[in-house]
Amino acid sequence: MFKIGCHLSMSKGYLSMGKEALSIKANTFQYFTRNPRGGAVKQLNLDDIEAFNNLTKEHSMFPPLAHAPYTLNPCAEKESIREFAKMVMEDDISRLEHIPGSMYNFHPGSHVKQGVEIGIQKIIDILNNVLKQDQKTIVLLEAMSGKGTEIGRSFEELKSIIDGVNHSHLIGVCIDTCHIYDAGYDIVNNLDGVLNDFDKIIGLERIKAVHVNDSKNPFKSHKDRHEKIGDGFIGKEAFERLINHPSLKDLPFYLETPNDIEGYAVEIEMLKNMRK
Ligand code: FE
Ligand code: FE
Ligand code: ZN
Repeated sequence: MFKIGCHLSMSKGYLSMGKEALSIKANTFQYFTRNPRGGAVKQLNLDDIEAFNNLTKEHSMFPPLAHAPYTLNPCAEKESIREFAKMVMEDDISRLEHIPGSMYNFHPGSHVKQGVEIGIQKIIDILNNVLKQDQKTIVLLEAMSGKGTEIGRSFEELKSIIDGVNHSHLIGVCIDTCHIYDAGYDIVNNLDGVLNDFDKIIGLERIKAVHVNDSKNPFKSHKDRHEKIGDGFIGKEAFERLINHPSLKDLPFYLETPNDIEGYAVEIEMLKNMRK
């Protein structure tokens, strides 16, 4: 099964997102667990979740990917900001336990002036506080472009985080094509080489999801501006190789391109047509 979806808005709840995904011929989707810029969260609606779980079963959908608000900074210098990140992550994960197969993706954060090592240690500390031995939700570190002082710009940085986490069986990686291309991993000319590096440093089995985004900026620009598939510096041919690559093809792919719902429907169809 080609697992393909896009980012949807949570505003009307899970059942509505599931139906919206089906309406554009997606079989999975991603969403922000709460306001992406703040922390406000809706009350947990178990009826909505039950209806959604039934819908996904009925249509053999792949479980959705939850994305933490991108303003969380788990490695902030200020303790109150880290406390807030921890509170949000714990609460999000406890909610996700109601949705079988859920994964929770987050940006590792920005160390600002503290340096990479201190930043990584803070991310590890948060994960060691938040992750519970018996939870089912898998938590994904998103690979980042390295803009500003972002952590997670290299496979080595991601590996250092994973190595420090006690319940590391609960940790995976989400590869974002725009981010890693901007970070300096040449998925256009050397996809095999990039995946070999990933395998040597982290292990390919840690990749649990892929964000498929073209990039508005050239290789190694460290910018992180997503573009529609085929309209950026990565280009359609690279995406065709990527979604069909033996090491990636069974993973869920999520579009986070600048699109409205009709645009996503077109892109999903395009990617399906590229699929061998
Ligand atoms: Fe993200
Ligand atoms: Fe992403
Ligand atoms: Zn991005």
